Amino acid sequence: MDGSKRSRHSNAFFTGFGGFRKIVLFDTLVEQLGEPELEAVLAHEIGHFKKKHIPKMLIMSAVGSLAGFYVVAALAKQEWFYRGFGFEPGNLAVALLLFGLLFSLVTFWFSPIAHWWSRRYEYQADDFAAQAMNEANSLINALRKLNEKNLSNLTPHRIYSAFYYSHPTLLEREQALHMRNIVSAGTIH
Ligand SMILES: [Zn+2]
Repeated sequence: MDGSKRSRHSNAFFTGFGGFRKIVLFDTLVEQLGEPELEAVLAHEIGHFKKKHIPKMLIMSAVGSLAGFYVVAALAKQEWFYRGFGFEPGNLAVALLLFGLLFSLVTFWFSPIAHWWSRRYEYQADDFAAQAMNEANSLINALRKLNEKNLSNLTPHRIYSAFYYSHPTLLEREQALHMRNIVSAGTIH
């Protein structure tokens, strides 16, 4: 992807499902990383595919939407809900307007759950990449460069990162990769 026209940020991601699957590498990323590091990033993205993260995410958000619609349908029948905002009960247009206005306010409080879920997937993809590469250093080097170039915060506050970070921090990812290396080294006799 030609990302350099817009910014110097670099990134890679896996997207789509079925016949539309794609791994996208920014041109900035290809410039910044060496060959084994690029392979490790590619392996990480293939990890997302192998572990079926996109279909699982789709199912999760479908279940979430269903629960959301259930709550909305229940609230639309409650008189107190209308009166609480100073409206006469029974007008569905008012209910829809209120849901539209309140939507992001409510879903915001669920973002730690979604982000916790997403960070789990990042660890799994990292783990897959380290296994595929048979070493973790290329991925660690790639992540370090990405963090440096993108000026990422290495030590965000726990509550802040719970609400806003879909990816673990560099330190957390390195720790997990080292843990895995130690564990696997321990099992080799
Ligand atoms: Zn990832």
